[in-house]
Amino acid sequence: MMRKQIAAANWKMNLSLEQAEALADQLIAGNMTLSADQQVLLAVPFPYLLPIKNKISLQSNVFVAAQNCAATKNGAYTGEVSAEMLKGMDIAYVIIGHSERREYYHEDNKILADKVNLALEYGIKPVFCCGEPLSIREAGTQNSYVELQLKESLFHLEKEQLRNFIIAYEPIWAIGTGKTASSDQAQDMHAHIRSVIASYAGQEIADSVSILYGGSVKAANAAEIFGKKDVDGGLVGGASLIATEYNTIINSLKRS
Ligand code: PEP
Repeated sequence: MMRKQIAAANWKMNLSLEQAEALADQLIAGNMTLSADQQVLLAVPFPYLLPIKNKISLQSNVFVAAQNCAATKNGAYTGEVSAEMLKGMDIAYVIIGHSERREYYHEDNKILADKVNLALEYGIKPVFCCGEPLSIREAGTQNSYVELQLKESLFHLEKEQLRNFIIAYEPIWAIGTGKTASSDQAQDMHAHIRSVIASYAGQEIADSVSILYGGSVKAANAAEIFGKKDVDGGLVGGASLIATEYNTIINSLKRS
């Protein structure tokens, strides 16, 4: 079977509860018909995990995801949410290492390795984000930059554990800027990421990992980007807040 094709929405810190529920209703009304190897993830703010999970409970292959989890297990960490708590609420996915977390909350590759370990300990699948800033892209060193992100946060794991991952490649210069990487730039990096994983864990495991592209994906460009061989869907910010846009993006996933 082909690896999963995934449309992951990142709502970030947006929407009132009422707006969030209305958006979920609109997505459902817009018909999220998915084949067995397609999935939709909705990464919603923590307080909306359960309400939105309830909304989508009858939709097959649609899941809520957390946008973050703590790097520590439990204890006196005011304001943090642990992987164990997410597991207790039956949340199956968590975004780890989004560039906004790396930049604004100083999450480095080592902290992200701790988060990855805790997510896996509780059986939660990480959507692990990587991607280079503009200066690195301009210097032409994006491949080694992304390789180091993967190595420092993931390559202490057992090879088999990499099957539990979704990787999101998000060039920072393309996030929220309206500047999308070209589909060829996305394909080149996705093939590189897959080869880096293959060199660590073997080709068969690397071929099982879904690698999503993120950075100004919208209804108008999703099909072209998702059409590339090593692009297995997208992690979508802005356009995931508009039901008609996001339904089109879902319908742009490859089908086997
Ligand atoms: C993101 O932040 O994950 C993202 C891809 O944002 P946008 O689609 O708005 O560029």
